[in-house]
Amino acid sequence: MGCAISSRKGKLDGNRHDVDSKGSIKPSAFVAENTNRLTDIYKLGKLLGSGAYADVRICYLKENGAKRAVKIIKKQSLSGNNIRQKIENEKEIIKSLDHPNIIRFYEFFEDAKKLYIIMEYSNGSEFFSQILQNESYSEIQAAKIMYQIFSILSYLHDKNIAHRDLKPESMLIDKDTLKVIDFAEASVITTRISQKVGSLFYSAPEVMFGTHTTSCDLWSAGVILYILLTGYHPFSGINDDETLKNIKNIKYTTTGKIWNQISSLAKELVSLLLCDHSRRISANDALHHPWILNFTQIFSPETPIISSALENLKHFTNTSVLRDAVHFFLTMQRVSTGDIKILGEVFKKIDKNDDGKISKQELINEYTNTLGVIQAESEVEKIMKEVDTNNDGYINYTEFLKAALDIRKMLSIENLRAAFRNFDKDFSGRISVLELKRVVSERNLLSHKTWTEILKEVDLNCDGEIDLIEFEKLVLMKGQAETEENADDKN
Ligand code: AMP
Repeated sequence: MGCAISSRKGKLDGNRHDVDSKGSIKPSAFVAENTNRLTDIYKLGKLLGSGAYADVRICYLKENGAKRAVKIIKKQSLSGNNIRQKIENEKEIIKSLDHPNIIRFYEFFEDAKKLYIIMEYSNGSEFFSQILQNESYSEIQAAKIMYQIFSILSYLHDKNIAHRDLKPESMLIDKDTLKVIDFAEASVITTRISQKVGSLFYSAPEVMFGTHTTSCDLWSAGVILYILLTGYHPFSGINDDETLKNIKNIKYTTTGKIWNQISSLAKELVSLLLCDHSRRISANDALHHPWILNFTQIFSPETPIISSALENLKHFTNTSVLRDAVHFFLTMQRVSTGDIKILGEVFKKIDKNDDGKISKQELINEYTNTLGVIQAESEVEKIMKEVDTNNDGYINYTEFLKAALDIRKMLSIENLRAAFRNFDKDFSGRISVLELKRVVSERNLLSHKTWTEILKEVDLNCDGEIDLIEFEKLVLMKGQAETEENADDKN
Protein backbone atom coordinates (compact mmCIF):
# COMPACT_ATOMS: atom_id res chain seq x y z
CA MET A 1 0.00 0.00 0.00
CA GLY A 2 1.11 3.58 -0.43
CA CYS A 3 2.99 5.62 -2.95
CA ALA A 4 6.53 4.31 -2.44
CA ILE A 5 6.00 1.16 -0.50
CA SER A 6 8.43 -1.03 -2.35
CA SER A 7 11.42 1.15 -1.59
CA ARG A 8 10.70 1.17 2.11
CA LYS A 9 9.17 -2.21 2.71
CA GLY A 10 10.14 -3.63 6.07
CA LYS A 11 11.37 -0.24 7.17
CA LEU A 12 8.29 1.84 7.58
CA ASP A 13 5.31 -0.27 6.68
CA GLY A 14 3.06 2.25 8.45
CA ASN A 15 3.95 0.52 11.71
CA ARG A 16 4.12 2.83 14.69
CA HIS A 17 6.92 0.86 16.34
CA ASP A 18 9.19 1.64 13.41
CA VAL A 19 8.40 5.24 13.22
CA ASP A 20 6.80 6.45 16.35
CA SER A 21 8.94 5.43 19.24
CA LYS A 22 9.14 9.01 20.46
CA GLY A 23 5.92 10.40 19.03
CA SER A 24 2.85 10.86 21.13
CA ILE A 25 -0.84 11.28 20.63
CA LYS A 26 -2.44 13.05 23.49
CA PRO A 27 -6.20 13.18 23.99
CA SER A 28 -5.88 16.98 24.10
CA ALA A 29 -5.01 16.96 20.40
CA PHE A 30 -8.68 16.22 19.73
CA VAL A 31 -10.24 18.75 22.11
CA ALA A 32 -9.72 21.67 19.81
CA GLU A 33 -10.94 25.11 18.89
CA ASN A 34 -13.66 24.87 16.27
CA THR A 35 -13.52 27.94 14.03
CA ASN A 36 -17.03 27.46 12.64
CA ARG A 37 -20.04 29.22 14.12
CA LEU A 38 -21.49 27.19 16.96
CA THR A 39 -24.96 27.22 15.42
CA ASP A 40 -23.65 25.83 12.12
CA ILE A 41 -22.52 22.71 13.93
CA TYR A 42 -24.91 22.41 16.89
CA LYS A 43 -28.61 22.97 17.39
CA LEU A 44 -29.21 24.61 20.77
CA GLY A 45 -31.71 23.02 23.16
CA LYS A 46 -33.19 23.88 26.52
CA LEU A 47 -31.46 25.74 29.32
CA LEU A 48 -30.06 23.40 31.98
CA GLY A 49 -28.81 25.99 34.43
CA SER A 50 -27.56 29.53 34.81
CA GLY A 51 -24.72 30.93 36.86
CA ALA A 52 -23.23 34.39 37.43
CA TYR A 53 -21.06 34.23 34.38
CA ALA A 54 -22.34 31.28 32.34
CA ASP A 55 -25.41 29.44 31.08
CA VAL A 56 -25.48 25.73 30.34
CA ARG A 57 -27.78 24.41 27.61
CA ILE A 58 -28.44 21.10 25.94
CA CYS A 59 -27.17 21.01 22.36
CA TYR A 60 -27.32 18.50 19.52
CA LEU A 61 -24.57 17.79 17.01
CA LYS A 62 -26.38 18.53 13.72
CA GLU A 63 -24.49 15.83 11.88
CA ASN A 64 -25.84 12.90 13.87
CA GLY A 65 -28.09 14.32 16.60
CA ALA A 66 -25.71 13.39 19.46
CA LYS A 67 -26.84 15.07 22.66
CA ARG A 68 -24.25 17.20 24.43
CA ALA A 69 -24.13 20.13 26.84
CA VAL A 70 -22.68 23.55 26.07
CA LYS A 71 -21.43 25.97 28.66
CA ILE A 72 -21.82 29.51 27.34
CA ILE A 73 -19.49 31.89 29.13
CA LYS A 74 -20.21 35.60 28.82
CA LYS A 75 -16.77 37.15 28.57
CA GLN A 76 -17.89 40.53 29.91
CA SER A 77 -18.93 38.97 33.19
CA LEU A 78 -15.45 37.59 33.86
CA SER A 79 -13.77 39.87 36.37
CA GLY A 80 -10.14 41.00 36.51
CA ASN A 81 -7.60 42.18 33.99
CA ASN A 82 -6.45 38.90 32.58
CA ILE A 83 -9.64 37.62 31.00
CA ARG A 84 -7.84 36.23 27.96
CA GLN A 85 -5.35 34.45 30.18
CA LYS A 86 -8.17 33.08 32.35
CA ILE A 87 -9.99 31.68 29.31
CA GLU A 88 -6.81 30.15 27.87
CA ASN A 89 -5.96 28.70 31.27
CA GLU A 90 -9.37 27.05 31.65
CA LYS A 91 -9.14 25.65 28.12
CA GLU A 92 -5.64 24.26 28.63
CA ILE A 93 -6.63 22.52 31.86
CA ILE A 94 -9.84 21.09 30.45
CA LYS A 95 -7.93 19.71 27.45
CA SER A 96 -5.53 17.83 29.67
CA LEU A 97 -8.23 16.00 31.69
CA ASP A 98 -8.95 12.34 31.11
CA HIS A 99 -10.66 10.60 34.03
CA PRO A 100 -13.91 8.64 34.40
CA ASN A 101 -15.21 10.99 37.13
CA ILE A 102 -14.54 14.13 35.14
CA ILE A 103 -17.02 15.22 32.51
CA ARG A 104 -15.67 14.69 29.00
CA PHE A 105 -14.93 17.87 27.06
CA TYR A 106 -15.28 17.83 23.26
CA GLU A 107 -14.46 21.19 21.71
CA PHE A 108 -14.57 24.98 22.03
CA PHE A 109 -16.13 27.75 20.01
CA GLU A 110 -15.57 31.43 20.55
CA ASP A 111 -17.01 34.68 19.23
CA ALA A 112 -16.54 38.30 20.25
CA LYS A 113 -18.75 38.04 23.31
CA LYS A 114 -18.83 34.42 24.35
CA LEU A 115 -16.83 31.27 24.85
CA TYR A 116 -18.64 27.98 24.28
CA ILE A 117 -17.39 24.78 25.88
CA ILE A 118 -18.96 21.61 24.46
CA MET A 119 -19.05 18.73 26.92
CA GLU A 120 -20.60 15.35 27.56
CA TYR A 121 -24.26 15.61 28.57
CA SER A 122 -24.88 13.98 31.94
CA ASN A 123 -28.26 12.65 32.91
CA GLY A 124 -27.32 13.12 36.51
CA SER A 125 -28.82 15.53 38.97
CA GLU A 126 -26.97 18.25 40.82
CA PHE A 127 -25.09 16.76 43.73
CA PHE A 128 -25.97 19.89 45.70
CA SER A 129 -29.76 19.31 45.29
CA GLN A 130 -29.33 15.69 46.28
CA ILE A 131 -27.60 16.77 49.50
CA LEU A 132 -30.43 19.18 50.26
CA GLN A 133 -32.98 16.37 49.82
CA ASN A 134 -31.13 13.88 52.04
CA GLU A 135 -30.71 15.00 55.63
CA SER A 136 -27.53 13.03 55.98
CA TYR A 137 -25.90 10.04 54.31
CA SER A 138 -25.06 6.65 55.81
CA GLU A 139 -21.32 6.14 56.22
CA ILE A 140 -21.27 3.68 53.33
CA GLN A 141 -23.05 6.17 51.03
CA ALA A 142 -20.70 8.94 52.14
CA ALA A 143 -17.64 6.72 51.61
CA LYS A 144 -18.80 5.85 48.06
CA ILE A 145 -18.92 9.54 47.22
CA MET A 146 -15.71 10.52 49.02
CA TYR A 147 -13.85 7.67 47.33
CA GLN A 148 -14.67 9.22 43.96
CA ILE A 149 -13.74 12.72 45.12
CA PHE A 150 -10.36 11.54 46.43
CA SER A 151 -9.79 9.61 43.23
CA ILE A 152 -10.39 12.78 41.16
CA LEU A 153 -8.15 14.84 43.47
CA SER A 154 -5.41 12.24 43.42
CA TYR A 155 -5.48 12.34 39.60
CA LEU A 156 -5.50 16.15 39.43
CA HIS A 157 -2.82 16.66 42.08
CA ASP A 158 -0.56 14.18 40.37
CA LYS A 159 -0.64 16.62 37.44
CA ASN A 160 -0.14 19.59 39.85
CA ILE A 161 -3.65 20.82 39.08
CA ALA A 162 -5.58 22.34 41.97
CA HIS A 163 -9.34 22.55 41.44
CA ARG A 164 -9.68 25.40 43.98
CA ASP A 165 -13.47 25.52 43.93
CA LEU A 166 -14.51 22.04 44.91
CA LYS A 167 -18.10 22.06 46.12
CA PRO A 168 -21.28 20.04 45.55
CA GLU A 169 -22.48 22.68 43.08
CA SER A 170 -19.62 21.75 40.71
CA MET A 171 -20.64 18.10 40.56
CA LEU A 172 -23.39 16.02 39.01
CA ILE A 173 -24.40 12.62 40.34
CA ASP A 174 -25.95 9.89 38.22
CA LYS A 175 -27.06 7.02 40.43
CA ASP A 176 -23.82 6.55 42.36
CA THR A 177 -21.40 8.03 39.84
CA LEU A 178 -20.09 11.50 40.49
CA LYS A 179 -18.77 13.81 37.77
CA VAL A 180 -17.00 17.11 38.22
CA ILE A 181 -18.27 19.60 35.63
CA ASP A 182 -16.59 22.89 36.42
CA PHE A 183 -12.90 23.82 36.27
CA ALA A 184 -13.21 27.61 36.02
CA GLU A 185 -10.91 28.27 39.00
CA ALA A 186 -8.50 25.38 38.44
CA SER A 187 -4.82 26.18 38.21
CA VAL A 188 -1.51 24.42 37.77
CA ILE A 189 0.37 25.00 41.02
CA THR A 190 4.01 24.17 41.53
CA THR A 191 4.87 26.62 44.34
CA ARG A 192 2.69 28.16 47.06
CA ILE A 193 0.53 30.92 45.63
CA SER A 194 -1.43 33.78 47.14
CA GLN A 195 -4.87 34.34 45.59
CA LYS A 196 -8.31 34.48 47.15
CA VAL A 197 -10.35 32.07 45.10
CA GLY A 198 -13.33 29.72 45.43
CA SER A 199 -16.43 29.86 47.60
CA LEU A 200 -16.36 31.01 51.21
CA PHE A 201 -18.06 27.90 52.63
CA TYR A 202 -15.61 25.46 51.05
CA SER A 203 -12.39 27.50 50.98
CA ALA A 204 -9.42 26.54 53.10
CA PRO A 205 -8.08 29.11 55.59
CA GLU A 206 -4.76 29.36 53.74
CA VAL A 207 -6.60 30.31 50.54
CA MET A 208 -8.21 33.26 52.29
CA PHE A 209 -5.44 34.27 54.64
CA GLY A 210 -2.15 33.01 53.24
CA THR A 211 -0.67 31.01 50.40
CA HIS A 212 -1.98 27.73 49.08
CA THR A 213 -1.09 24.59 47.12
CA THR A 214 -3.16 21.71 45.74
CA SER A 215 -3.78 20.68 49.37
CA CYS A 216 -6.54 23.33 49.61
CA ASP A 217 -8.81 20.88 47.72
CA LEU A 218 -8.52 18.38 50.58
CA TRP A 219 -9.97 20.97 52.94
CA SER A 220 -12.96 21.42 50.60
CA ALA A 221 -13.31 17.62 50.48
CA GLY A 222 -13.33 17.66 54.31
CA VAL A 223 -16.18 20.18 54.33
CA ILE A 224 -18.15 17.97 51.90
CA LEU A 225 -17.49 14.87 54.03
CA TYR A 226 -18.62 16.70 57.17
CA ILE A 227 -21.85 17.81 55.46
CA LEU A 228 -22.56 14.29 54.18
CA LEU A 229 -22.14 12.78 57.64
CA THR A 230 -24.05 15.38 59.65
CA GLY A 231 -26.26 17.34 57.27
CA TYR A 232 -24.79 20.67 58.37
CA HIS A 233 -21.83 22.86 57.54
CA PRO A 234 -18.82 22.65 59.92
CA PHE A 235 -17.99 26.37 60.05
CA SER A 236 -21.36 28.04 59.52
CA GLY A 237 -21.78 31.14 61.70
CA ILE A 238 -24.62 33.61 62.13
CA ASN A 239 -23.15 35.68 59.31
CA ASP A 240 -20.25 35.54 56.81
CA ASP A 241 -17.89 37.30 59.23
CA GLU A 242 -18.44 34.65 61.86
CA THR A 243 -18.12 31.85 59.29
CA LEU A 244 -14.84 33.36 58.13
CA LYS A 245 -13.60 33.58 61.71
CA ASN A 246 -14.49 29.92 62.36
CA ILE A 247 -12.64 28.88 59.21
CA LYS A 248 -9.60 30.96 60.14
CA ASN A 249 -9.50 29.39 63.62
CA ILE A 250 -10.41 25.92 62.26
CA LYS A 251 -13.24 25.87 64.80
CA TYR A 252 -15.74 23.05 64.36
CA THR A 253 -17.15 20.24 66.47
CA THR A 254 -17.09 16.46 66.24
CA THR A 255 -19.06 15.87 69.42
CA GLY A 256 -22.79 15.83 70.20
CA LYS A 257 -25.77 13.59 69.41
CA ILE A 258 -25.09 13.12 65.69
CA TRP A 259 -21.37 12.54 66.16
CA ASN A 260 -22.02 9.84 68.80
CA GLN A 261 -23.35 7.67 65.98
CA ILE A 262 -20.42 8.26 63.63
CA SER A 263 -17.46 5.85 63.58
CA SER A 264 -14.11 6.93 65.01
CA LEU A 265 -12.45 6.21 61.63
CA ALA A 266 -14.77 8.69 59.90
CA LYS A 267 -14.00 11.25 62.63
CA GLU A 268 -10.30 10.64 62.19
CA LEU A 269 -10.53 11.29 58.43
CA VAL A 270 -12.49 14.52 59.03
CA SER A 271 -9.76 15.70 61.44
CA LEU A 272 -7.04 14.88 58.87
CA LEU A 273 -8.83 16.99 56.25
CA LEU A 274 -10.07 19.93 58.30
CA CYS A 275 -6.76 20.95 59.83
CA ASP A 276 -3.80 23.20 59.17
CA HIS A 277 -2.36 22.54 55.68
CA SER A 278 0.98 21.46 57.21
CA ARG A 279 -0.73 18.41 58.77
CA ARG A 280 -3.37 17.78 56.09
CA ILE A 281 -3.61 14.35 54.47
CA SER A 282 -2.84 14.05 50.73
CA ALA A 283 -5.47 12.92 48.22
CA ASN A 284 -3.67 9.66 47.63
CA ASP A 285 -3.39 8.90 51.35
CA ALA A 286 -7.05 9.84 51.87
CA LEU A 287 -7.96 7.35 49.14
CA HIS A 288 -6.23 4.65 51.17
CA HIS A 289 -7.48 5.74 54.58
CA PRO A 290 -8.99 2.72 56.45
CA TRP A 291 -12.45 4.34 56.51
CA ILE A 292 -12.47 4.51 52.69
CA LEU A 293 -10.86 1.08 52.23
CA ASN A 294 -13.42 -0.60 54.55
CA PHE A 295 -16.25 0.48 52.32
CA THR A 296 -14.62 0.30 48.89
CA GLN A 297 -14.15 -3.43 49.36
CA ILE A 298 -17.91 -3.82 49.90
CA PHE A 299 -19.02 -1.89 46.82
CA SER A 300 -16.54 -3.14 44.27
CA PRO A 301 -18.72 -2.72 41.14
CA GLU A 302 -20.17 -5.70 39.31
CA THR A 303 -18.86 -5.44 35.77
CA PRO A 304 -20.05 -8.30 33.59
CA ILE A 305 -18.32 -6.86 30.54
CA ILE A 306 -14.90 -6.74 32.14
CA SER A 307 -13.81 -9.95 30.44
CA SER A 308 -14.85 -8.71 27.00
CA ALA A 309 -13.00 -5.43 27.58
CA LEU A 310 -9.89 -7.37 28.65
CA GLU A 311 -10.25 -9.54 25.56
CA ASN A 312 -10.46 -6.47 23.28
CA LEU A 313 -7.38 -5.05 25.00
CA LYS A 314 -5.44 -8.25 24.35
CA HIS A 315 -6.26 -8.22 20.65
CA PHE A 316 -5.72 -4.53 20.12
CA THR A 317 -3.03 -3.90 17.55
CA ASN A 318 -1.84 -0.54 16.55
CA THR A 319 -0.69 -0.94 13.01
CA SER A 320 -0.44 2.60 11.77
CA VAL A 321 0.19 6.00 13.31
CA LEU A 322 -2.55 7.58 11.29
CA ARG A 323 -5.08 4.85 12.00
CA ASP A 324 -4.24 5.15 15.67
CA ALA A 325 -4.90 8.87 15.49
CA VAL A 326 -8.29 8.21 13.87
CA HIS A 327 -9.15 5.72 16.60
CA PHE A 328 -8.17 8.36 19.15
CA PHE A 329 -10.47 10.86 17.49
CA LEU A 330 -13.38 8.40 17.46
CA THR A 331 -12.80 7.55 21.12
CA MET A 332 -12.57 11.17 22.17
CA GLN A 333 -15.43 12.48 20.09
CA ARG A 334 -17.79 9.73 19.02
CA VAL A 335 -18.17 7.12 21.75
CA SER A 336 -21.70 6.92 23.10
CA THR A 337 -22.33 8.02 26.68
CA GLY A 338 -23.58 4.49 27.47
CA ASP A 339 -20.32 2.86 26.33
CA ILE A 340 -18.26 5.40 28.24
CA LYS A 341 -20.23 4.70 31.38
CA ILE A 342 -19.76 0.93 31.28
CA LEU A 343 -16.08 1.04 30.31
CA GLY A 344 -15.46 3.76 32.91
CA GLU A 345 -16.56 1.26 35.57
CA VAL A 346 -14.25 -1.40 34.14
CA PHE A 347 -11.37 1.08 34.08
CA LYS A 348 -11.92 1.95 37.74
CA LYS A 349 -12.09 -1.70 38.67
CA ILE A 350 -8.69 -2.44 37.09
CA ASP A 351 -7.15 0.80 38.43
CA LYS A 352 -6.87 -0.64 41.93
CA ASN A 353 -4.92 2.26 43.47
CA ASP A 354 -7.33 4.78 41.92
CA ASP A 355 -4.67 7.09 40.54
CA GLY A 356 -6.58 7.48 37.26
CA LYS A 357 -4.21 5.37 35.18
CA ILE A 358 -3.59 1.63 34.81
CA SER A 359 -0.11 0.39 35.63
CA LYS A 360 1.51 -2.72 34.20
CA GLN A 361 1.16 -4.51 37.53
CA GLU A 362 -2.56 -3.71 37.80
CA LEU A 363 -3.10 -5.21 34.37
CA ILE A 364 -1.01 -8.28 35.17
CA ASN A 365 -3.18 -8.84 38.28
CA GLU A 366 -6.32 -8.86 36.11
CA TYR A 367 -4.99 -11.33 33.55
CA THR A 368 -3.35 -13.59 36.13
CA ASN A 369 -6.78 -14.92 37.17
CA THR A 370 -7.35 -16.45 33.75
CA LEU A 371 -3.87 -16.82 32.23
CA GLY A 372 -1.49 -17.50 35.11
CA VAL A 373 1.37 -15.15 36.02
CA ILE A 374 3.87 -15.97 33.27
CA GLN A 375 1.46 -15.67 30.36
CA ALA A 376 -0.17 -12.64 31.96
CA GLU A 377 3.20 -10.88 32.12
CA SER A 378 3.98 -11.57 28.49
CA GLU A 379 0.46 -10.51 27.35
CA VAL A 380 0.78 -7.29 29.31
CA GLU A 381 4.17 -6.52 27.73
CA LYS A 382 2.47 -6.79 24.34
CA ILE A 383 -0.54 -4.74 25.43
CA MET A 384 1.64 -1.93 26.78
CA LYS A 385 3.49 -1.71 23.46
CA GLU A 386 0.26 -1.44 21.52
CA VAL A 387 -1.94 0.61 23.83
CA ASP A 388 0.37 2.98 25.71
CA THR A 389 0.40 5.48 22.86
CA ASN A 390 2.07 8.33 24.75
CA ASN A 391 4.75 5.98 26.10
CA ASP A 392 4.44 7.12 29.72
CA GLY A 393 4.44 3.58 31.09
CA TYR A 394 0.72 3.63 31.97
CA ILE A 395 -2.57 3.10 30.19
CA ASN A 396 -4.54 6.28 30.69
CA TYR A 397 -8.31 6.54 30.45
CA THR A 398 -8.67 7.37 26.76
CA GLU A 399 -5.96 4.89 25.75
CA PHE A 400 -7.96 2.26 27.64
CA LEU A 401 -11.26 3.24 26.01
CA LYS A 402 -9.68 3.24 22.57
CA ALA A 403 -8.37 -0.30 22.98
CA ALA A 404 -11.25 -1.80 24.99
CA LEU A 405 -13.99 -0.53 22.71
CA ASP A 406 -15.18 -2.48 19.76
CA ILE A 407 -13.93 0.15 17.32
CA ARG A 408 -15.61 -1.52 14.34
CA LYS A 409 -18.96 -0.36 15.71
CA MET A 410 -17.77 3.20 15.19
CA LEU A 411 -16.40 2.94 11.68
CA SER A 412 -19.44 4.46 10.01
CA ILE A 413 -18.90 6.64 6.96
CA GLU A 414 -20.33 9.56 8.90
CA ASN A 415 -17.77 9.12 11.71
CA LEU A 416 -14.90 8.70 9.26
CA ARG A 417 -15.87 11.92 7.49
CA ALA A 418 -15.97 13.74 10.81
CA ALA A 419 -12.49 12.38 11.60
CA PHE A 420 -11.26 13.50 8.17
CA ARG A 421 -12.59 17.01 8.76
CA ASN A 422 -10.79 17.07 12.09
CA PHE A 423 -7.46 16.50 10.34
CA ASP A 424 -8.23 18.72 7.37
CA LYS A 425 -7.75 21.97 9.28
CA ASP A 426 -7.84 24.26 6.23
CA PHE A 427 -10.94 22.55 4.77
CA SER A 428 -9.10 21.91 1.50
CA GLY A 429 -10.51 18.40 1.20
CA ARG A 430 -7.00 16.98 1.58
CA ILE A 431 -4.73 16.30 4.53
CA SER A 432 -1.20 17.63 4.19
CA VAL A 433 1.92 16.63 6.11
CA LEU A 434 1.60 19.79 8.19
CA GLU A 435 -1.99 19.01 9.14
CA LEU A 436 -1.01 15.47 10.03
CA LYS A 437 1.78 16.72 12.28
CA ARG A 438 -0.51 19.16 14.02
CA VAL A 439 -2.99 16.51 15.05
CA VAL A 440 -0.86 13.48 15.63
CA SER A 441 2.10 14.80 17.52
CA GLU A 442 1.65 17.89 19.62
CA ARG A 443 5.27 17.85 20.54
CA ASN A 444 6.32 17.37 16.93
CA LEU A 445 9.03 14.97 17.96
CA LEU A 446 9.06 13.26 14.60
CA SER A 447 10.93 14.90 11.76
CA HIS A 448 9.17 16.32 8.73
CA LYS A 449 10.84 13.57 6.70
CA THR A 450 9.31 10.86 8.88
CA TRP A 451 5.87 12.42 8.53
CA THR A 452 6.30 12.59 4.78
CA GLU A 453 7.10 8.87 4.86
CA ILE A 454 4.00 8.14 6.95
CA LEU A 455 1.88 10.10 4.53
CA LYS A 456 3.34 8.25 1.56
CA GLU A 457 2.02 5.00 3.02
CA VAL A 458 -1.49 6.24 2.56
CA ASP A 459 -1.09 8.51 -0.42
CA LEU A 460 -2.22 6.09 -3.13
CA ASN A 461 -2.30 8.64 -5.97
CA CYS A 462 1.04 10.15 -4.97
CA ASP A 463 -0.14 13.78 -4.93
CA GLY A 464 1.58 14.47 -1.58
CA GLU A 465 -1.68 14.69 0.40
CA ILE A 466 -4.38 12.38 1.70
CA ASP A 467 -7.84 12.74 0.24
CA LEU A 468 -11.06 11.38 1.68
CA ILE A 469 -11.00 8.22 -0.43
CA GLU A 470 -7.44 7.37 0.65
CA PHE A 471 -8.33 8.18 4.23
CA GLU A 472 -11.41 5.94 4.28
CA LYS A 473 -9.48 3.12 2.64
CA LEU A 474 -6.80 3.27 5.27
CA VAL A 475 -9.17 3.21 8.22
CA LEU A 476 -11.68 0.74 6.83
CA MET A 477 -8.99 -1.70 5.82
CA LYS A 478 -8.28 -2.27 9.50
CA GLY A 479 -11.95 -2.90 10.26
CA GLN A 480 -12.07 -5.27 7.32
CA ALA A 481 -8.94 -7.13 8.44
CA GLU A 482 -10.35 -7.53 11.93
CA THR A 483 -13.67 -8.80 10.63
CA GLU A 484 -11.87 -11.41 8.50
CA GLU A 485 -9.66 -12.40 11.41
CA ASN A 486 -12.70 -12.91 13.63
CA ALA A 487 -14.45 -14.92 10.93
CA ASP A 488 -11.34 -17.12 10.68
CA ASP A 489 -11.35 -17.60 14.46
CA LYS A 490 -14.93 -18.78 14.34
CA ASN A 491 -14.37 -21.25 11.50
P1 AMP B 1 -22.58 25.39 36.11
O1 AMP B 1 -22.67 26.77 35.55
O2 AMP B 1 -21.36 24.66 35.67
O3 AMP B 1 -22.74 25.39 37.60
O4 AMP B 1 -23.82 24.58 35.53
C1 AMP B 1 -25.16 24.99 35.76
C2 AMP B 1 -26.07 23.79 35.74
O5 AMP B 1 -26.15 23.23 34.43
C3 AMP B 1 -25.60 22.65 36.62
O6 AMP B 1 -25.99 22.80 37.92
C4 AMP B 1 -26.26 21.46 35.97
O7 AMP B 1 -27.60 21.32 36.40
C5 AMP B 1 -26.27 21.83 34.51
N1 AMP B 1 -25.13 21.21 33.82
C6 AMP B 1 -23.86 21.69 33.75
N2 AMP B 1 -23.09 20.88 33.02
C7 AMP B 1 -23.85 19.85 32.60
C8 AMP B 1 -23.63 18.68 31.82
N3 AMP B 1 -22.44 18.41 31.29
N4 AMP B 1 -24.65 17.82 31.62
C9 AMP B 1 -25.88 18.08 32.13
N5 AMP B 1 -26.16 19.18 32.89
C10 AMP B 1 -25.17 20.06 33.13
